[in-house]
Amino acid sequence: CGIVGYIGFREAYPVLIKGLHRLEYRGYDSAGVALINERNNLSVYKSKGRVQDLEEYVQDKDTSGTIGIAHTRWATHGEPSNANAHPHYSQSESLALIHNGIIENYAVLKAQLIANGYTFHSSTDTEVLVQWIEYIRQLNGYDLLTAVQIALSQVVGAYAIALLEKGNPDQIIAARKSSPLVVGVGKGEFFLASDASPIIEYTNKVIYLDDEEIAVIRRDQEPKIITLTNVRKPLHIKELEMN
Ligand code: GLU
Repeated sequence: CGIVGYIGFREAYPVLIKGLHRLEYRGYDSAGVALINERNNLSVYKSKGRVQDLEEYVQDKDTSGTIGIAHTRWATHGEPSNANAHPHYSQSESLALIHNGIIENYAVLKAQLIANGYTFHSSTDTEVLVQWIEYIRQLNGYDLLTAVQIALSQVVGAYAIALLEKGNPDQIIAARKSSPLVVGVGKGEFFLASDASPIIEYTNKVIYLDDEEIAVIRRDQEPKIITLTNVRKPLHIKELEMN
């Protein structure tokens, strides 16, 4: 299972697909991508099976855009299927989330969401998390980062996540706890991945996120690393040896 993300000046889709192939060794049963195009539309394409099946599926689709996230899934909650593949949309389809790990208390959160009129299109724990972020945000009128901080504080389990917001083509929000996640820092572009293997051909500068840290990755800005409890962290950029 794996996560890849890109924001910068290149077309995101080829970078994401190449990155997913690099992470294939980790094992998976489905794959998917989310992209924001020039018109600020947020598109999700996903498919059970190989990364190649996803590539065939998107052949006649719009995969343009310079920001995107991609995922390979190793099912823990819900069988391998197109519906259970990531990314998952929130109710309003304004958020798209990918996730590696397990949300242990998903059933309690899901019951509360259903009681509040939310409907579900998959049987994953991950769809509960993206809906929960939207719920927290709408309930309190929070900005997206605050909603993510609060939602993740209420989650029991393990996660590496990446989140896109419709109409916001300049930002990826990522976070981790007990699942690995690395930010790659290029010149005018940023990468995100479960390990450095999809990143190293573009840059050797990486930031390893710690548990309960969130990376706010914005176009043309230094990444902001902040904890679930809102403590801003200094940037520790490591230089990997390139060979
Ligand atoms: N628990 C999530 C699911 O079953 C994520 C699995 C993974 O790590 O890929 O969809």
